[in-house]
Amino acid sequence: MVEKYDYLIVGAGFAGAVLAERLAEESGKTCLVVDRRSHIAGNAYDKVDQAGILIHAYGPHYFRTNSTRVVDYLSRFTQWHQVTYQVLVWTDGKYWQFPINLNTFEQYLGRPSTTEEMEATLAKWREDFPNPKNSEEMVLSQVGRKFYEMFFKNYTKKQWKRDPSQLDASVCGRIPVRTNRDNRFVTDTFQALPQEGYTAMFEKILRHPRITVRLNTDYRQLPPQVKYERMIYTGMIDEFYNFSEGRLPYRSMRFEAETLPQEFFQPAMQVNYPNDHEYTRVVEIKHATGQKSPVTTIVREYPEDFGPGKEAYYPVPAPDSKELYEKYAAKAKMEKNVTFVGRLATYRYYNMDQVVAMALSEFDKLKASKATN
Ligand code: FAD
Ligand code: UDP
Repeated sequence: MVEKYDYLIVGAGFAGAVLAERLAEESGKTCLVVDRRSHIAGNAYDKVDQAGILIHAYGPHYFRTNSTRVVDYLSRFTQWHQVTYQVLVWTDGKYWQFPINLNTFEQYLGRPSTTEEMEATLAKWREDFPNPKNSEEMVLSQVGRKFYEMFFKNYTKKQWKRDPSQLDASVCGRIPVRTNRDNRFVTDTFQALPQEGYTAMFEKILRHPRITVRLNTDYRQLPPQVKYERMIYTGMIDEFYNFSEGRLPYRSMRFEAETLPQEFFQPAMQVNYPNDHEYTRVVEIKHATGQKSPVTTIVREYPEDFGPGKEAYYPVPAPDSKELYEKYAAKAKMEKNVTFVGRLATYRYYNMDQVVAMALSEFDKLKASKATN
Protein backbone atom coordinates (compact mmCIF):
# COMPACT_ATOMS: atom_id res chain seq x y z
CA MET A 1 0.00 0.00 0.00
CA VAL A 2 1.39 3.40 -0.98
CA GLU A 3 2.19 5.78 1.89
CA LYS A 4 2.02 9.38 0.70
CA TYR A 5 3.47 12.47 2.39
CA ASP A 6 3.98 16.03 1.26
CA TYR A 7 7.41 16.14 2.92
CA LEU A 8 10.08 13.66 3.91
CA ILE A 9 12.16 15.24 6.66
CA VAL A 10 15.53 13.62 7.29
CA GLY A 11 16.62 14.21 10.89
CA ALA A 12 14.62 14.86 14.07
CA GLY A 13 17.00 17.47 15.52
CA PHE A 14 16.21 21.18 15.76
CA ALA A 15 16.31 21.78 12.00
CA GLY A 16 14.03 18.87 11.10
CA ALA A 17 11.60 19.18 14.01
CA VAL A 18 11.02 22.92 13.61
CA LEU A 19 10.39 22.58 9.88
CA ALA A 20 8.06 19.63 10.38
CA GLU A 21 6.03 21.58 12.93
CA ARG A 22 5.80 24.71 10.76
CA LEU A 23 4.87 22.79 7.61
CA ALA A 24 2.27 20.69 9.43
CA GLU A 25 0.74 23.41 11.56
CA GLU A 26 0.89 26.46 9.33
CA SER A 27 0.80 24.97 5.84
CA GLY A 28 -1.29 21.87 6.51
CA LYS A 29 1.38 19.58 5.04
CA THR A 30 1.84 15.94 5.97
CA CYS A 31 5.39 15.18 7.10
CA LEU A 32 7.27 11.95 7.62
CA VAL A 33 10.21 12.67 9.96
CA VAL A 34 12.87 9.96 10.00
CA ASP A 35 15.99 9.69 12.12
CA ARG A 36 18.53 6.93 12.03
CA ARG A 37 19.15 7.30 15.75
CA SER A 38 16.81 5.66 18.26
CA HIS A 39 15.51 8.98 19.61
CA ILE A 40 14.31 12.46 18.65
CA ALA A 41 16.08 15.78 19.46
CA GLY A 42 19.34 15.12 17.54
CA ASN A 43 22.39 16.26 19.47
CA ALA A 44 20.22 18.13 21.98
CA TYR A 45 18.82 14.80 23.26
CA ASP A 46 18.72 14.52 27.04
CA LYS A 47 17.62 11.65 29.26
CA VAL A 48 17.34 10.52 32.85
CA ASP A 49 20.17 8.09 33.62
CA GLN A 50 20.10 5.04 35.92
CA ALA A 51 20.83 7.20 38.95
CA GLY A 52 17.84 9.43 38.17
CA ILE A 53 19.94 12.38 36.96
CA LEU A 54 18.93 14.29 33.82
CA ILE A 55 22.00 14.33 31.57
CA HIS A 56 22.74 15.76 28.13
CA ALA A 57 23.70 12.69 26.15
CA TYR A 58 25.82 14.46 23.50
CA GLY A 59 27.64 17.14 25.45
CA PRO A 60 26.26 20.14 27.32
CA HIS A 61 23.57 22.10 25.52
CA TYR A 62 23.35 25.60 26.95
CA PHE A 63 20.46 27.37 25.28
CA ARG A 64 21.18 31.06 24.77
CA THR A 65 20.03 33.61 22.23
CA ASN A 66 19.44 37.25 21.41
CA SER A 67 16.54 36.41 19.11
CA THR A 68 13.05 37.10 20.42
CA ARG A 69 11.62 35.30 17.40
CA VAL A 70 13.40 32.09 18.42
CA VAL A 71 12.40 32.42 22.10
CA ASP A 72 8.77 33.18 21.23
CA TYR A 73 8.64 30.20 18.89
CA LEU A 74 10.16 27.65 21.30
CA SER A 75 8.13 29.00 24.24
CA ARG A 76 5.04 27.46 22.63
CA PHE A 77 6.50 24.08 23.51
CA THR A 78 8.27 24.59 26.82
CA GLN A 79 8.60 26.63 29.94
CA TRP A 80 12.10 27.74 30.87
CA HIS A 81 14.51 27.30 33.74
CA GLN A 82 16.68 30.43 33.90
CA VAL A 83 20.40 29.70 34.27
CA THR A 84 23.59 31.70 34.36
CA TYR A 85 26.08 29.42 32.63
CA GLN A 86 29.45 29.31 34.36
CA VAL A 87 32.62 27.62 33.21
CA LEU A 88 36.02 27.19 34.85
CA VAL A 89 39.37 26.07 33.51
CA TRP A 90 41.69 23.72 35.38
CA THR A 91 45.37 24.27 34.68
CA ASP A 92 48.61 24.64 36.67
CA GLY A 93 46.97 22.84 39.60
CA LYS A 94 44.01 25.19 40.10
CA TYR A 95 40.69 26.45 38.83
CA TRP A 96 40.65 29.63 36.78
CA GLN A 97 37.78 31.93 35.96
CA PHE A 98 36.84 31.49 32.28
CA PRO A 99 36.26 33.20 29.85
CA ILE A 100 39.24 35.41 30.69
CA ASN A 101 38.21 38.50 32.65
CA LEU A 102 39.53 40.75 35.43
CA ASN A 103 39.12 37.93 37.97
CA THR A 104 41.30 35.65 35.80
CA PHE A 105 43.88 38.42 35.51
CA GLU A 106 43.97 38.84 39.29
CA GLN A 107 44.42 35.10 39.73
CA TYR A 108 47.34 35.28 37.32
CA LEU A 109 48.93 38.23 39.16
CA GLY A 110 48.15 36.77 42.58
CA ARG A 111 46.91 40.17 43.81
CA PRO A 112 44.02 42.62 43.30
CA SER A 113 44.00 44.63 40.10
CA THR A 114 41.81 47.00 38.07
CA THR A 115 40.25 47.14 34.61
CA GLU A 116 42.73 49.90 33.71
CA GLU A 117 45.72 47.77 34.69
CA MET A 118 44.35 44.75 32.83
CA GLU A 119 43.74 46.82 29.69
CA ALA A 120 47.21 48.36 29.86
CA THR A 121 48.81 44.92 30.37
CA LEU A 122 46.84 43.29 27.55
CA ALA A 123 47.85 46.20 25.30
CA LYS A 124 51.48 45.18 25.94
CA TRP A 125 50.84 41.43 25.57
CA ARG A 126 48.70 41.59 22.46
CA GLU A 127 50.25 40.75 19.10
CA ASP A 128 49.43 42.89 16.14
CA PHE A 129 46.94 41.15 13.86
CA PRO A 130 44.43 43.80 12.78
CA ASN A 131 42.48 41.20 10.73
CA PRO A 132 43.13 37.82 12.37
CA LYS A 133 43.10 35.13 9.68
CA ASN A 134 42.98 32.11 11.97
CA SER A 135 42.32 31.10 15.59
CA GLU A 136 45.94 31.53 16.69
CA GLU A 137 46.09 35.08 15.39
CA MET A 138 42.67 35.75 16.87
CA VAL A 139 43.69 34.83 20.42
CA LEU A 140 47.15 36.42 20.16
CA SER A 141 45.51 39.67 19.02
CA GLN A 142 43.13 39.61 22.00
CA VAL A 143 45.24 38.43 24.94
CA GLY A 144 48.80 37.66 23.78
CA ARG A 145 50.90 34.52 24.02
CA LYS A 146 50.84 33.77 27.79
CA PHE A 147 47.07 33.33 27.96
CA TYR A 148 47.01 31.73 24.49
CA GLU A 149 49.28 28.99 25.74
CA MET A 150 47.57 28.60 29.12
CA PHE A 151 43.99 28.44 27.88
CA PHE A 152 43.66 27.95 24.13
CA LYS A 153 46.55 26.27 22.35
CA ASN A 154 46.34 22.75 23.74
CA TYR A 155 42.57 22.63 24.22
CA THR A 156 42.15 23.53 20.56
CA LYS A 157 44.69 20.94 19.42
CA LYS A 158 42.96 18.27 21.51
CA GLN A 159 39.49 19.21 20.29
CA TRP A 160 40.22 19.65 16.57
CA LYS A 161 43.48 17.70 16.06
CA ARG A 162 44.65 20.80 14.24
CA ASP A 163 46.85 23.67 15.23
CA PRO A 164 44.82 26.84 15.98
CA SER A 165 46.60 28.42 13.00
CA GLN A 166 44.76 25.89 10.78
CA LEU A 167 41.28 26.88 11.99
CA ASP A 168 39.11 29.88 11.15
CA ALA A 169 39.39 32.84 13.54
CA SER A 170 35.72 32.31 14.42
CA VAL A 171 36.46 29.04 16.31
CA CYS A 172 38.41 30.55 19.22
CA GLY A 173 36.61 33.82 18.47
CA ARG A 174 33.49 32.22 20.01
CA ILE A 175 35.05 32.76 23.43
CA PRO A 176 34.79 36.35 24.68
CA VAL A 177 37.53 38.25 26.53
CA ARG A 178 36.47 40.79 29.15
CA THR A 179 38.23 43.29 31.36
CA ASN A 180 35.37 43.50 33.88
CA ARG A 181 34.16 40.97 36.46
CA ASP A 182 31.35 39.47 34.40
CA ASN A 183 31.78 35.73 35.05
CA ARG A 184 29.02 34.58 32.70
CA PHE A 185 30.09 32.21 29.93
CA VAL A 186 28.01 34.15 27.38
CA THR A 187 26.18 37.48 27.53
CA ASP A 188 23.13 36.71 25.37
CA THR A 189 19.94 38.35 26.60
CA PHE A 190 18.14 34.99 26.99
CA GLN A 191 19.87 32.11 28.80
CA ALA A 192 17.72 29.21 29.96
CA LEU A 193 17.15 25.48 29.66
CA PRO A 194 13.80 23.91 28.74
CA GLN A 195 12.16 23.29 32.12
CA GLU A 196 11.49 19.59 31.53
CA GLY A 197 14.49 19.08 29.25
CA TYR A 198 15.08 19.16 25.49
CA THR A 199 13.56 15.77 24.70
CA ALA A 200 10.28 16.74 26.38
CA MET A 201 10.26 19.97 24.33
CA PHE A 202 10.87 18.02 21.10
CA GLU A 203 8.03 15.62 21.95
CA LYS A 204 5.69 18.62 22.01
CA ILE A 205 7.11 20.14 18.82
CA LEU A 206 6.59 16.87 16.95
CA ARG A 207 3.22 15.95 18.48
CA HIS A 208 0.91 16.85 15.59
CA PRO A 209 -1.69 14.87 13.66
CA ARG A 210 0.07 15.60 10.36
CA ILE A 211 3.53 14.53 11.61
CA THR A 212 4.68 10.90 11.60
CA VAL A 213 8.01 10.12 13.28
CA ARG A 214 9.97 7.00 12.42
CA LEU A 215 13.14 6.29 14.42
CA ASN A 216 15.99 3.84 13.72
CA THR A 217 15.34 4.66 10.07
CA ASP A 218 17.87 5.84 7.52
CA TYR A 219 15.93 7.58 4.75
CA ARG A 220 17.91 5.65 2.16
CA GLN A 221 16.37 2.44 3.46
CA LEU A 222 12.75 3.56 3.26
CA PRO A 223 10.62 1.11 1.28
CA PRO A 224 9.59 2.18 -2.23
CA GLN A 225 5.94 2.51 -1.25
CA VAL A 226 6.82 5.64 0.77
CA LYS A 227 6.20 8.57 -1.58
CA TYR A 228 6.78 12.28 -0.98
CA GLU A 229 6.80 15.51 -2.93
CA ARG A 230 9.74 17.31 -1.32
CA MET A 231 12.56 16.58 1.08
CA ILE A 232 14.09 18.54 3.96
CA TYR A 233 17.57 17.16 4.56
CA THR A 234 19.45 17.88 7.82
CA GLY A 235 22.21 15.23 7.68
CA MET A 236 25.79 15.49 6.38
CA ILE A 237 25.82 17.16 2.97
CA ASP A 238 28.77 15.12 1.64
CA GLU A 239 26.98 11.89 2.58
CA PHE A 240 23.87 13.03 0.67
CA TYR A 241 26.02 13.10 -2.47
CA ASN A 242 27.82 9.83 -1.66
CA PHE A 243 31.04 11.80 -1.05
CA SER A 244 31.31 12.49 -4.78
CA GLU A 245 33.53 15.54 -4.27
CA GLY A 246 35.54 13.99 -1.42
CA ARG A 247 34.97 13.74 2.32
CA LEU A 248 34.37 16.84 4.40
CA PRO A 249 36.24 16.79 7.71
CA TYR A 250 34.26 16.40 10.95
CA ARG A 251 35.24 15.89 14.58
CA SER A 252 33.64 13.23 16.68
CA MET A 253 33.55 12.73 20.43
CA ARG A 254 33.25 10.02 23.05
CA PHE A 255 31.11 10.87 26.07
CA GLU A 256 31.89 8.95 29.25
CA ALA A 257 29.39 9.28 32.07
CA GLU A 258 30.16 8.45 35.70
CA THR A 259 27.76 8.58 38.65
CA LEU A 260 29.28 9.47 42.01
CA PRO A 261 27.82 9.09 45.52
CA GLN A 262 28.11 12.78 46.36
CA GLU A 263 25.94 15.84 45.78
CA PHE A 264 28.43 17.62 43.52
CA PHE A 265 31.77 16.65 41.97
CA GLN A 266 33.12 20.01 40.83
CA PRO A 267 32.54 23.71 41.61
CA ALA A 268 30.83 24.60 38.30
CA MET A 269 28.70 22.99 35.59
CA GLN A 270 31.68 22.79 33.25
CA VAL A 271 35.43 22.57 33.82
CA ASN A 272 37.76 22.72 30.81
CA TYR A 273 41.11 20.92 30.83
CA PRO A 274 43.36 22.54 28.23
CA ASN A 275 46.63 21.08 29.46
CA ASP A 276 45.77 17.98 31.52
CA HIS A 277 44.15 14.66 30.58
CA GLU A 278 42.90 13.31 27.26
CA TYR A 279 39.46 14.78 27.75
CA THR A 280 38.70 18.43 26.99
CA ARG A 281 36.04 19.04 29.61
CA VAL A 282 33.97 17.59 32.44
CA VAL A 283 30.30 18.54 32.52
CA GLU A 284 28.12 18.27 35.61
CA ILE A 285 24.85 19.47 34.12
CA LYS A 286 23.07 19.21 37.49
CA HIS A 287 24.55 22.63 38.33
CA ALA A 288 22.58 24.08 35.43
CA THR A 289 19.36 22.05 35.59
CA GLY A 290 19.02 22.72 39.33
CA GLN A 291 18.08 19.10 39.96
CA LYS A 292 18.27 18.12 43.64
CA SER A 293 19.80 14.72 44.41
CA PRO A 294 22.32 13.24 46.86
CA VAL A 295 24.19 11.72 43.87
CA THR A 296 25.60 13.29 40.75
CA THR A 297 26.56 12.30 37.21
CA ILE A 298 29.50 13.83 35.37
CA VAL A 299 30.33 13.41 31.69
CA ARG A 300 33.89 13.53 30.35
CA GLU A 301 34.37 14.48 26.69
CA TYR A 302 37.10 12.80 24.66
CA PRO A 303 37.55 14.23 21.15
CA GLU A 304 37.86 11.54 18.48
CA ASP A 305 38.41 11.22 14.75
CA PHE A 306 35.25 10.86 12.73
CA GLY A 307 34.83 7.53 10.94
CA PRO A 308 32.59 4.47 10.58
CA GLY A 309 30.23 4.04 13.54
CA LYS A 310 30.94 7.56 14.84
CA GLU A 311 28.66 10.59 14.87
CA ALA A 312 29.78 13.76 13.07
CA TYR A 313 29.43 16.24 15.92
CA TYR A 314 31.42 19.18 14.59
CA PRO A 315 32.05 20.56 11.11
CA VAL A 316 35.65 21.85 10.99
CA PRO A 317 35.71 25.58 10.18
CA ALA A 318 38.83 26.07 8.05
CA PRO A 319 39.71 27.30 4.54
CA ASP A 320 40.26 23.78 3.10
CA SER A 321 36.92 22.45 4.34
CA LYS A 322 35.10 25.58 3.18
CA GLU A 323 36.48 25.12 -0.33
CA LEU A 324 35.22 21.54 -0.44
CA TYR A 325 31.88 22.46 1.14
CA GLU A 326 31.33 25.09 -1.58
CA LYS A 327 31.40 22.31 -4.20
CA TYR A 328 28.60 20.51 -2.39
CA ALA A 329 26.71 23.76 -1.80
CA ALA A 330 26.77 24.42 -5.56
CA LYS A 331 25.17 21.01 -6.17
CA ALA A 332 22.62 21.58 -3.39
CA LYS A 333 21.60 24.86 -5.00
CA MET A 334 20.57 23.02 -8.15
CA GLU A 335 18.15 20.74 -6.30
CA LYS A 336 14.53 21.61 -7.03
CA ASN A 337 12.85 19.46 -4.39
CA VAL A 338 15.35 19.25 -1.57
CA THR A 339 16.06 21.89 1.08
CA PHE A 340 19.30 21.61 3.08
CA VAL A 341 18.99 22.95 6.63
CA GLY A 342 20.97 22.72 9.89
CA ARG A 343 24.49 22.30 11.16
CA LEU A 344 25.56 19.29 9.05
CA ALA A 345 23.61 20.02 5.87
CA THR A 346 25.03 23.56 5.63
CA TYR A 347 28.35 22.62 7.28
CA ARG A 348 28.19 25.45 9.80
CA TYR A 349 29.41 25.53 13.41
CA TYR A 350 25.99 26.75 14.56
CA ASN A 351 24.40 26.90 17.98
CA MET A 352 20.85 25.67 18.58
CA ASP A 353 19.24 29.11 18.35
CA GLN A 354 20.98 29.76 15.02
CA VAL A 355 19.64 26.46 13.69
CA VAL A 356 16.11 27.29 14.85
CA ALA A 357 16.37 30.72 13.20
CA MET A 358 17.64 29.08 10.00
CA ALA A 359 14.74 26.60 10.01
CA LEU A 360 12.18 29.37 10.57
CA SER A 361 13.59 31.41 7.71
CA GLU A 362 13.71 28.36 5.42
CA PHE A 363 10.04 27.88 6.21
CA ASP A 364 9.38 31.51 5.25
CA LYS A 365 11.14 30.86 1.93
CA LEU A 366 9.15 27.69 1.28
CA LYS A 367 5.97 29.58 2.08
CA ALA A 368 6.90 32.37 -0.31
CA SER A 369 7.61 29.84 -3.07
CA LYS A 370 4.87 27.51 -4.21
CA ALA A 371 6.32 24.66 -2.15
CA THR A 372 3.71 25.03 0.59
CA ASN A 373 0.70 25.77 -1.61
P1 FAD B 1 21.41 17.44 14.58
O1 FAD B 1 20.98 17.69 15.97
O2 FAD B 1 22.74 16.81 14.33
O3 FAD B 1 20.26 16.56 13.87
C1 FAD B 1 20.45 15.93 12.62
C2 FAD B 1 19.79 14.55 12.71
O4 FAD B 1 19.77 13.96 11.40
C3 FAD B 1 20.54 13.58 13.61
O5 FAD B 1 19.73 13.16 14.69
C4 FAD B 1 20.92 12.42 12.68
O6 FAD B 1 20.82 11.15 13.31
C5 FAD B 1 19.90 12.57 11.55
N1 FAD B 1 20.36 11.99 10.29
C6 FAD B 1 21.49 12.29 9.61
N2 FAD B 1 21.57 11.55 8.48
C7 FAD B 1 20.45 10.77 8.45
C8 FAD B 1 19.96 9.79 7.54
N3 FAD B 1 20.66 9.44 6.45
N4 FAD B 1 18.77 9.21 7.79
C9 FAD B 1 18.07 9.51 8.92
N5 FAD B 1 18.50 10.44 9.82
C10 FAD B 1 19.67 11.05 9.59
N6 FAD B 1 24.42 24.53 20.77
C11 FAD B 1 24.08 25.49 21.65
O7 FAD B 1 23.27 26.37 21.32
N7 FAD B 1 24.58 25.50 22.93
C12 FAD B 1 25.44 24.55 23.37
O8 FAD B 1 25.87 24.59 24.53
C13 FAD B 1 25.83 23.52 22.47
N8 FAD B 1 26.69 22.57 22.86
C14 FAD B 1 27.03 21.58 21.99
C15 FAD B 1 27.91 20.58 22.45
C16 FAD B 1 28.26 19.53 21.59
C17 FAD B 1 29.21 18.47 22.08
C18 FAD B 1 27.74 19.51 20.26
C19 FAD B 1 28.13 18.39 19.32
C20 FAD B 1 26.89 20.49 19.81
C21 FAD B 1 26.52 21.54 20.66
N9 FAD B 1 25.64 22.54 20.27
C22 FAD B 1 25.28 23.54 21.15
C23 FAD B 1 25.13 22.61 18.87
C24 FAD B 1 23.77 21.94 18.71
O9 FAD B 1 23.90 20.55 18.99
C25 FAD B 1 23.33 22.11 17.25
O10 FAD B 1 23.28 23.48 16.88
C26 FAD B 1 21.96 21.52 16.94
O11 FAD B 1 21.71 20.33 17.63
C27 FAD B 1 21.90 21.27 15.45
O12 FAD B 1 20.63 20.76 15.09
P2 FAD B 1 20.48 20.07 13.66
O13 FAD B 1 19.06 19.70 13.53
O14 FAD B 1 21.10 20.91 12.60
O15 FAD B 1 21.41 18.77 13.72
N1 UDP C 1 38.52 26.87 23.53
C1 UDP C 1 39.76 26.76 24.12
N2 UDP C 1 39.83 26.63 25.48
C2 UDP C 1 38.75 26.59 26.26
C3 UDP C 1 37.48 26.70 25.66
C4 UDP C 1 37.39 26.82 24.28
O1 UDP C 1 40.78 26.76 23.43
O2 UDP C 1 38.89 26.46 27.50
C5 UDP C 1 38.45 26.99 22.05
C6 UDP C 1 38.44 25.61 21.39
O3 UDP C 1 39.06 25.69 20.13
C7 UDP C 1 36.95 25.34 21.26
C8 UDP C 1 36.43 26.71 20.86
O4 UDP C 1 37.23 27.63 21.65
O5 UDP C 1 36.68 24.34 20.31
C9 UDP C 1 34.97 26.95 21.10
O6 UDP C 1 34.67 26.66 22.45
P1 UDP C 1 33.19 26.27 22.90
O7 UDP C 1 33.21 26.10 24.38
O8 UDP C 1 32.24 27.26 22.32
O9 UDP C 1 33.03 24.86 22.18
P2 UDP C 1 31.78 23.85 21.98
O10 UDP C 1 30.91 23.97 23.19
O11 UDP C 1 31.12 24.24 20.70
O12 UDP C 1 32.46 22.53 21.88
